[in-house]
Amino acid sequence: MKYVRFETKTGAKKHGVLKDDKIKVVEGSIFEDHKITDEAYSIHTVRLLAPVEPSKVLCIGLNYVDHAKEFGKPVPDEPLLFLKPSTSVIGPEDNVIYPPQTKNLHYEVELAIVIGRVAKNVKHSEALGYVFGYTVANDITARDLQSTDSQWSRAKGFDTFCPLGPWIETEVKNQDNLDIKLFLNGEERQNSNTNNLAFKCADLIEYLSGIMTLLPGDVILTGTPGGIGSMQPGDKVEAYVEKIGTLTNTIALP
Ligand code: MG
Repeated sequence: MKYVRFETKTGAKKHGVLKDDKIKVVEGSIFEDHKITDEAYSIHTVRLLAPVEPSKVLCIGLNYVDHAKEFGKPVPDEPLLFLKPSTSVIGPEDNVIYPPQTKNLHYEVELAIVIGRVAKNVKHSEALGYVFGYTVANDITARDLQSTDSQWSRAKGFDTFCPLGPWIETEVKNQDNLDIKLFLNGEERQNSNTNNLAFKCADLIEYLSGIMTLLPGDVILTGTPGGIGSMQPGDKVEAYVEKIGTLTNTIALP
């Protein structure tokens, strides 16, 4: 199923499930027992929001061999973890704001895991049982600040630097074999498959839940493939993952 969060014309924010063009409203937390009601909206009459409001966004760096290579680094022996603040999250069609502190703003398409239940010290064999579903992320990065700073909170943490969506797909079974692509103004810039991930989804859940408790709604960005590049104000950026969908955003000045 495709779980969405959306805003109605009257400003009400709701969760729902999308089928064809119709959203049926969900009553109760999507991470607990919940009911799909008969209250329905056309997707064309609402604004989609980020499908989840994570308490934290955990991100993995250099997790595709070709991206590590273009970055001039080997794939690390252990997953390379950094965090994006919850305030960086935006939804599909929202603008990514090009901050004045950078001169080199980059896209990074990523498969994103949405955690469904509290996960602490999870065993590898049970890791995928903690997944609610998968969505698409764009790990927006101020590449110049990433090289000048010894850690990446600033380069990756500006408001609007974590577009998520357009929905959470709960029926993905082959998360380790999904095509992943990014288009800038309609031109393909990244094209890979999640089978090129050095650390797979189950590896990451086991590893990360051994460090910090993962809460329902927390999001893990699994890393970006090769082909990173810069964007300019006015550019349209489309991040695509097979079986999930396309997350579209536009770059704008503050
Ligand atoms: Mg990234």
